[in-house]
Order: sequence, then C-alpha cells, then structure tokens
Amino acid sequence: MKHSRLKGRVAVVTGASRGIGRAIAIGLAREGASVVVNYVANAAMANQVVNEIRAAGSDAVAVRADVKDLAQHKKLVAATLRRFGRIDILVNNAAITRRQPFLEATAQAWDETLGVNLKGVYFLSQTVARRMAIQRSGKIINISSVHDERAMMHNSVYNISKAGLVMLTKSLALELAENGIQVNCVSPGAILTDETRDRLADPEHRARVLAKIPGGRIGEPQDVVGAVVLLASAESDYITGATLYVDGGMLLR
Ligand code: NAP
Repeated sequence: MKHSRLKGRVAVVTGASRGIGRAIAIGLAREGASVVVNYVANAAMANQVVNEIRAAGSDAVAVRADVKDLAQHKKLVAATLRRFGRIDILVNNAAITRRQPFLEATAQAWDETLGVNLKGVYFLSQTVARRMAIQRSGKIINISSVHDERAMMHNSVYNISKAGLVMLTKSLALELAENGIQVNCVSPGAILTDETRDRLADPEHRARVLAKIPGGRIGEPQDVVGAVVLLASAESDYITGATLYVDGGMLLR
C-alpha cells in the first residue's frame, strides 16, 4: 500500500542494490519519495530495485558511485539534481566488513573499511549537506550497527567504524542544526542479508545469535525501514543526533 509521508521528497540511498539499503529505498518510495538507488558493482540488482519502485508508482534512478572515492560524490549529487532537482534525504547505508582477528589485521582492511564506512559517509554527507543548507532543510540518516556499542569478535575495524559513525552523527547534527538539517543514526541488530546469510546458515552460529535476541528471531531488512521512514519524515523534525537501535532487544542482554 502506498502512503504519502514523503511525497515530493528526493532521497539518495547508498548501497541500495541489496539487503537493508534495498528495503529502505523501496520503503521511502512507498511513502512517496523519489529515490536514487546507489550501488557500486551490481547494476542489474540496482535496476531491479528501480523497476520495483516504478511499478509501485514512484520514481527512481540507479546511479553507480563508489562512496569511498570522494571524487564520485559530486557525480552522485549532480546526477540526483539533474534528475530530480533537489535532495531532501541522504541515507548512508553502504558499508563493508573485512573480518580479521586483531593480531592478523591489515592496514589495507583498515583503509578499505574506514574508507567506505566512515570517510565516505563524512564527505558524502558534506557534499549533500552543502546543497541541503541552501534548501534550509534535510535529513541525513546513517545506518550503523549494534556493534557501534557492543564489540563483535574478530571484527574490530568494523566495530570501530560504526562507533565512529555514532560520533559522526552527533558532530554533524550539532553543526547542521542551524541549517534545518537533522542527522540521526539507525543501528540494526542481526539482519538476514547477503552479508550475514552464509554465517546464519550454520545452525550453531544461528543458535548463538538467536540466544542474544529477546525478540526471538533474526531481523529482516524490512524491520529497519520504519525507523528510517520516521527519521526521514517531518515527524522527526525535533530529533537530531540520536541513535535508534532496531535489534529485537539485542543490546538488553
Ligand atoms: P550488504 O547486503 O552487504 O549490501 C551492501 C550494499 O552496499 C550493496 O548494495 C553494495 O552495492 C553497497 N556497497 C558496498 N560497498 C560500496 C561502495 N564502496 N560504494 C557504494 N555502495 C557500496 O549489506 P547489508 O547487510 O544490507 O548492510 C547494510 C547496512 O546495514 C551496512 O551499513 C551494515 O553495516 C548495516 N548493518 C547490517 C547488519 C546485518 O545484520 N546485515 C547489522 C547491522 C548493521 P553492490 O550490490 O553494488 O555491491
């Protein structure tokens, strides 16, 4: 069913070809937003998301841009403005994980992970916020993780990138408030996507994860959408610098 909380708004969702980003792109479109479906490698999957959005009656376009390559940010924003004329919502969803025990961790994994998960988010937000500041309104939503709060074994660089994202959110929220821009974070728990599918297929690992979730189930990408729609809509105009955990209660255990 189509609603209209975001009618006339334009959203850019990074990493929207698959998983949580895909669900967010479709969810924002269902509320009436026009959506830029960003991806880095899977053009066919990004185009499928675009087709699904159009079939449901909203507009969308797929734009390739590697968020860790700062030179591509201007291209992503220019493509958005060319097609839709404005940017109201930026969802920084794209992220990578390079699992390595700390004693074996490499500088290359550090640079790649921080490049996508933190530096890319920081500078894409800057490029987009400069435009939003002219409009004197905007919503930036960063997709973090429960691992911004709780360390995941053998994934220190990812943990660090997500903890940094929470402070990035607060710092940008503080500076951009006077421009009418709200910056918030949504931190999912365990969600079934390409990133987690293989490990969750292992019954022992799945049981260990489930034991940590009071809600009693692994999340679906759709579970994250409601929080993002709220933070993208006018209903959250007085919320900024916040992190909302969408984790079935995982952090309570
Ligand atoms: P995923 O299934 O691995 O999908 C990653 C998406 O990011 C893809 O669309 C991919 O595009 C895109 N991407 C990767 N590198 C990129 C780059 N350099 N530039 C632009 N796009 C890039 O991920 P997910 O599991 O849905 O996770 C989405 C977000 O939720 C991430 O921020 C992740 O940290 C967070 N999260 C996930 C979970 C979970 O359990 N899954 C839990 C907590 C937080 P291509 O398809 O083109 O490769």
